[in-house]
Amino acid sequence: MAADMDPEARLQRVVKLIAGTMVADVCSIYRRTQDNRLELIATEGLRPDAIHRTFLAFNEGLVGQIAAHAQPLSIQDAPRHPHFSYRPETGEDPYHAFLGVPILKGGQVVGVLTVQNQAERIYEDDEIESLQTIAMVLAEIVSVPQAQDAGDEPQRPLNLKGRVLCDGLGMGRVRLHDPVIPAAKFFAVDRDVEEHRLESAFEELHLSIDRLLSAEIGGLWGEPRDVLEAYKLLASDPTWAERLREGVRSGLSAEASIDRMRREHRARFENVRDPYLRERLHDLEDLDNRLLRILAGSDEKALTQEDTSDAPEVLVARRLGPAELLEYGQMNLAAIVLEEVATSSHAAIVARGMGIPTIGGIDGLLTYLSSGDTVIVDGEEGSLHIRPDTALVDAFGERKELLSQRQAAFLKLRGEPSQTLDQVDITLMLNAGLGLDLDHLKSTGAEGIGLFRTEFQFLLSDTLPTVTDQISLYKTVLDVADGRPVNFRTVDLGGDKMLPNLNDAREENPAMGWRSIRFALDRPGLFRRQLRALIRAADGRSLSVMFPMLTTAKEFRDAKHLLDREIGWSTQNGFAPPSELRVGAMLETPAFAYALQDLAGEVDFVSIGTNDMLQFFHAADRMTPSVSERYSMVSRPVVRFLHDVHATCQKLSIPASICGEGAGHPIQALCLIAIGFRSLSMPAGGIGPVKRMLRSLDLSAFEPEFAALLSDSHKDFRNGLLDLCEEHRIQLTDD
Ligand code: PEP
Ligand code: MG
Repeated sequence: MAADMDPEARLQRVVKLIAGTMVADVCSIYRRTQDNRLELIATEGLRPDAIHRTFLAFNEGLVGQIAAHAQPLSIQDAPRHPHFSYRPETGEDPYHAFLGVPILKGGQVVGVLTVQNQAERIYEDDEIESLQTIAMVLAEIVSVPQAQDAGDEPQRPLNLKGRVLCDGLGMGRVRLHDPVIPAAKFFAVDRDVEEHRLESAFEELHLSIDRLLSAEIGGLWGEPRDVLEAYKLLASDPTWAERLREGVRSGLSAEASIDRMRREHRARFENVRDPYLRERLHDLEDLDNRLLRILAGSDEKALTQEDTSDAPEVLVARRLGPAELLEYGQMNLAAIVLEEVATSSHAAIVARGMGIPTIGGIDGLLTYLSSGDTVIVDGEEGSLHIRPDTALVDAFGERKELLSQRQAAFLKLRGEPSQTLDQVDITLMLNAGLGLDLDHLKSTGAEGIGLFRTEFQFLLSDTLPTVTDQISLYKTVLDVADGRPVNFRTVDLGGDKMLPNLNDAREENPAMGWRSIRFALDRPGLFRRQLRALIRAADGRSLSVMFPMLTTAKEFRDAKHLLDREIGWSTQNGFAPPSELRVGAMLETPAFAYALQDLAGEVDFVSIGTNDMLQFFHAADRMTPSVSERYSMVSRPVVRFLHDVHATCQKLSIPASICGEGAGHPIQALCLIAIGFRSLSMPAGGIGPVKRMLRSLDLSAFEPEFAALLSDSHKDFRNGLLDLCEEHRIQLTDD
């Protein structure tokens, strides 16, 4: 690639080399032209006179599909594919197997690279990956003539669909969380120099890890220490280092060689489900990133300067830990966009606490945009507009204005009673879990905290929080609540919320695995320290505690027994016991609904966690986008089930309430109120809309018709409910 020769001849040599190495009969390069077509510019195997004569429209044929979707395409028998476009001048009749990858530069498709074979065959994943690596390097020469011709060709606007993780609208310039390789740094001008740079970077990496670990490890014990030691070992893995050296020896710059490795780790990460291996691959990618940052050296300064700028930015990351997100807290973040959705759930909850519009679940996100691009994040529709045109920017401005008007209207509602038209009081509470969330208590006018997720404190720290740390947080919560009720939910670790250093057992289904109360009861030391901290934080005030994810009555009794023992211990040691103690059970598994009758007189209240409840009720993983929104809470089976749970609780005189995201949507809250629930706890954003809905509701008139709809199996439930809302003028939305 670095050879000094005519560009056309060089491309010809490259395609010949690729065809030979990949044992392909054909290798071709298509380049995107200024008028958005794809021009054949080099080929080994097709007719040479087709070069510069064969053009395809941007989404025409298989090559066009690759360009339009910016995705690789591998086909066993190309001529039978519906998108195959026959071009007689190329003489490609005999070739069946086809593999093509986009040539991307700065997130834009600048061309397509293909290989073909006569025999029908399936290209292996590593062949696809190799071709992508080659395409990455080719981008440097394929795009050059076009860049000169086209000058500053504007990049196309693009709309992508994702999943809303935190409501709201945001616009700003992209800030990429992962380091980007400057295009100029792809090739080794001098291999010796590059090898030397890489070796120095290794040295610096080891030194910096040693520094980090010697500072951290001293204060650590047991598993956390092992994890950091393992990370250190990984950094000395000879295979990893050798692969990076190989890249440099083959002519890549140190940066490009690391980037190639990083892509490989990412690609493997996408395909691995095992949580243990995923964690390792994430560590490796972290090492790749660290090495890149070391090589960037002076570039880091430029970044720091940008940090001080006030212009709104949109943070874009493949995935992000909650603590990493908090590190960006000082910046003016207008929105966050994440590629992954499942592992980002903590980041999403932190984002919600910070009130930053966030969307996730966009495959290939990072290939579509570059640092500095303007984007609009629509956290209402779940879409991302990259490089929006002026019409879209104007529309965004108008919607943003509407949104602030709506928020102002909700703010006005804050002081109004939370009461239906026929004077039924409904208690609206807040779900919280971070110090940040406490502000919402005031801004929403919530009557208390129906769910305080204590595990976030554990998740945000690399080491386990001490009893003192825990006391301090719980005390702050009670102080801010200032007499309003707070239900502390004891640690719900595990599932998507496991600390890597607390459980290295590999689980097939972590959501149904060793988590929550199961984990807490098996780790009584950790659990008792938390209970002790809660009692000490209450310091003679009233205390309400609830246990999550119960399945049996015995689990509740065992947990309560530990709490009673801690109260005894605290009292003996001179600490004030809570003036009033309420011990609740979270109903999140269907089994526990049938354990309630055994607990009459023992449990002070039941709170239904709809997020987990629904995932187990429907057997649909809440973290898997393709199924998590497949089943609705607004359905007869769910409403009937919740109705029966409410009736059971009433019969047993156990107060029942709801927490979980479900209570925060007006239509879902309406169903809950209609079957008898009078206390709902929800994310801050739900309180205004739910309050407006219930203030427009004449419950005594609505209830009998709702009950009739629930038992009328011939009517579609959701549509029937929407009709009822219209008839009764119940305000579900703005209009
Ligand atoms: C729930 O499952 O509904 C709940 C409130 O708990 P979490 O979302 O924290 O699992
Ligand atoms: Mg739950």
